[in-house]
Amino acid sequence: MNKPTVAIVGRPNVGKSTIFNRIVGERISIVEDTPGVTRDRIYGTGEWLSHEFHIIDTGGIEIGDAPFLEEIRLQAEIAIEEADVIIFIVNSREGVTSADEEVAKILFRSKKPVVLAVNKVDNPEMRADIYDFYALGFNEPFPISGSHGLGLGDLLDEVVNHFPESKEENEEEDVIKFSLIGRPNVGKSSIVNALLGEERVIVSDIAGTTRDAIDSTYEFDEQKYTIIDTAGMRKKGKVYENTEKYSVLRALKAIDRSDVVLVVLNGEEGIQEQDKKIAGYAHEAGRAVIIVVNKWDAVEKDEKTMKEFEEKIRAHFLFLDYAPIVFVSAKTKKRLTNLFPAIKMASENHEMRVQSSVLNDVIADAIAMNPTPSDKGRKLKIFYVTQVGIKPPTFVVFVNDPEIMHFSYERFLQNRIREAFGFEGTPIHIITRQRK
Ligand code: GDP
Ligand code: GDP
Repeated sequence: MNKPTVAIVGRPNVGKSTIFNRIVGERISIVEDTPGVTRDRIYGTGEWLSHEFHIIDTGGIEIGDAPFLEEIRLQAEIAIEEADVIIFIVNSREGVTSADEEVAKILFRSKKPVVLAVNKVDNPEMRADIYDFYALGFNEPFPISGSHGLGLGDLLDEVVNHFPESKEENEEEDVIKFSLIGRPNVGKSSIVNALLGEERVIVSDIAGTTRDAIDSTYEFDEQKYTIIDTAGMRKKGKVYENTEKYSVLRALKAIDRSDVVLVVLNGEEGIQEQDKKIAGYAHEAGRAVIIVVNKWDAVEKDEKTMKEFEEKIRAHFLFLDYAPIVFVSAKTKKRLTNLFPAIKMASENHEMRVQSSVLNDVIADAIAMNPTPSDKGRKLKIFYVTQVGIKPPTFVVFVNDPEIMHFSYERFLQNRIREAFGFEGTPIHIITRQRK
């Protein structure tokens, strides 16, 4: 579960994003109808020799208008903060530059494992060019070519060698894992602190793979919860903490490890474009989602305010129509404990399985109510539907010809399933297949 993280660092144009894309490969998938999901990825997962890992292209994290050298220095710091292993990329064509030396110095001090990759070694004759790079003070440099896909295997062998021994995470089945994501300053840390400050049992603090991540397991009404704390959520103040890409990175890491994601909004400031993007990531990852409106104490309100805010949320987050909304104040702790029943409900629905016979009755009723569409003289025939997975609940609809299945009809079936079984809090996925 707790996958190691690899970060790529190096100055601009050495080939970081080329190599990132090579390693992440085809795995990048973006659900088309999720609004605002950025397409320039800096975060993905890779796999090598049956090791799965997260990978970050720190080059994609632009730090405001920091001067060049300052920016790559900050990117190196992010790599150190986030990663278990760092791939440091240099360019064989240009030799060792002073920017490379800067980065090397920072990485060296961190004591994190660093694997040095000399890129743009496009053919064997060029391998001699790597010797200059011994001067950077790391172990043997690995010659690679990002654009030709050469040497990546050897490089990844070495990276994988440095993965920490997998920490035996107590994978207790009955623990619900959740995280809080949202823009900076919406009150995520305050909520976590307020929850943990409640005088109830904190069962344990579990250190994550990366240095400062502390997950806390917590009990409420005889249910255990683990709050996924991404590194640094409780300690702050770095220059890059407030950069958008960095908070996205934090959010993605947290989402990866959660069953339920709390998308935190600032009631005082209202909904902003970035909120939608962040919420889109949770949706896209197929996690259960709860929308939390924080700082409700600071909002001037009458009896209509909450309803109006809810309507605004529904209008802005159409793709999260399944997510319950909870209004809280971390400051006054008002309604804070309402979060737990909501998380529990969402988590139960996220892993709910429904009986095939009942499911097919629901579908038969749905078809009777709204007949299947036709296209080019052919009518869609639905033979049967079966649930093939949970987290999120995933259904396969077997049909005569998937081409005739319209998006709108799929959506209709999805809504019927939702209404019949009550999948509040969780997305559900529908896959249409041809019956052979
Ligand atoms: P980044 O700024 O470090 O992310 O670098 P990019 O991945 O954007 O690559 C910068 C340029 O170098 C692009 O034009 C790439 O096509 C090119 N490039 C990347 N890897 C290689 C390589 O292995 N060989 C050669 N010849 N060019 C490469
Ligand atoms: P984070 O960046 O999302 O983790 O946000 P923080 O938890 O650091 O909170 C940002 C600021 O909002 C701090 O100054 C908090 O004191 C303040 N804050 C957090 N929760 C509340 C709340 O419920 N009401 C009010 N009025 N302020 C809050």
